[in-house]
Amino acid sequence: MTSPEESPASTPAPRLEQTRHLASAIPGPVSRELMSRKQAAVSVGVSTTMPVFATRAAGGIVEDVDGNRLIDLGSGIAVTTVGNSDPRVVAAVATQVAAFTHTCFMVTPYEGYVAVAEQLSRLTPGEFEKRSALFNSGAEAVENAVKIARTYTGRDAVVVFDHAYHGRTNLTMAMTAKNMPYKHGFGPFAGEVYRAPMSYPFRDDPAMDGKLAAKRAIDQIEVQVGADNLAAIVIEPIQGEGGFVVPAPGFLAGLAEWCRSHGVLFIADEVQSGFGRTGTWFAVEHEGVVPDLVVSAKGIAGGLPLSAVTGRAEVMDAVHAGGLGGTYGGNPLACAAALAVIETIEADDLLARARRIEEILLGRLRDLQAGDPRIGDVRGRGAMVAAEFVDPTTGDPDAALAKAVAAHAHAEGVITLTCGTWGNVIRFLPPLSISDELLTEGLDIVAAGLAATR
Ligand code: PMP
Repeated sequence: MTSPEESPASTPAPRLEQTRHLASAIPGPVSRELMSRKQAAVSVGVSTTMPVFATRAAGGIVEDVDGNRLIDLGSGIAVTTVGNSDPRVVAAVATQVAAFTHTCFMVTPYEGYVAVAEQLSRLTPGEFEKRSALFNSGAEAVENAVKIARTYTGRDAVVVFDHAYHGRTNLTMAMTAKNMPYKHGFGPFAGEVYRAPMSYPFRDDPAMDGKLAAKRAIDQIEVQVGADNLAAIVIEPIQGEGGFVVPAPGFLAGLAEWCRSHGVLFIADEVQSGFGRTGTWFAVEHEGVVPDLVVSAKGIAGGLPLSAVTGRAEVMDAVHAGGLGGTYGGNPLACAAALAVIETIEADDLLARARRIEEILLGRLRDLQAGDPRIGDVRGRGAMVAAEFVDPTTGDPDAALAKAVAAHAHAEGVITLTCGTWGNVIRFLPPLSISDELLTEGLDIVAAGLAATR
């Protein structure tokens, strides 16, 4: 028996050494053994980026079961923005877990949920009265944002964009653009979802500025859907899975203005781009756009499952009592974590840290691009930056190169993720707790991988 003083909650975890270390080949023997157990027990539908199993993670390092220490340039897909197992998050969750783990907010509510909603009212763009509802995953929150928009407007249609990713549930699969692997064989999909052209500066005609790209989308929406039928447009202010596409300046504002004048709601899916990731609380702020509804998830709770829809009070309150909810939505542990995450971002000025990481990432990748025409584009904001690989003669996407560079990084102990409609983009999503040294070392290894493929 351990006394309360010795309980894991009151014993600070040993700080994980912040150096890359290869104790074995990647994967090592223990990971290989676990991988064969995975194959025998877990659906092949659930695949992994790297064949290594984690034991601990903190700062900018993930340690695996063979004692390898990997540089983390992925944050578990943009989730551990404040760092893995940040001590303040751990302490808040430990206190909550000892008090109670669940009552269901819809049965006997608790303060943490309300406090998270209050913080979201403060942090999301727009100086008006707001309300929030909390859920578990990004996809679940996107679905609920659509439910709310349909109730408020009394309209059915939803517009989404080329290259969009909104999740893997039935409605959000319909909203997601890419067939493989997200949709293939999983239909039929939910109806009344329409797709419009995205602003993609690297692939658009150079004359296609943000205003023109917005007009192109709006013209298509007016012809194919009709504003009177349209409840909402749902857009990622910086696209995530679709390739870290940053729309041309003015695109989002043009869409938002059209929405406002036609009674259409503008919903920002900030699941990947939100919560400090891009150097502002929400990525729409870079474009001065105020959405009617904002969807948060991923970075909001430091790795505990939590998502939210936040928006104008009159929209959020248009839903009948009991119309929103779920058994676990706004779980008390996740709410405690979210409050600690928000406190940490503010206390440590992590928005400034994201901007500093942007300088390092964009600076290094643009240097590489200057000497390597296979890097067609370098783009992104804050700690959400990517390089798009192309065939230099044709400009065609080069997925094989992105894959080879990522494989080199993985073998050298650097967690990198690919993305993009054509799979030809390497994205950098380091935790904001990573040191400059580890980030630079990670980029050195990516550069070496690029050189090795010449
Ligand atoms: N929207 C966006 C923009 C995302 O990036 C994701 C996840 N990658 C989702 C929605 C879905 O989130 P979840 O996986 O938590 O359901």
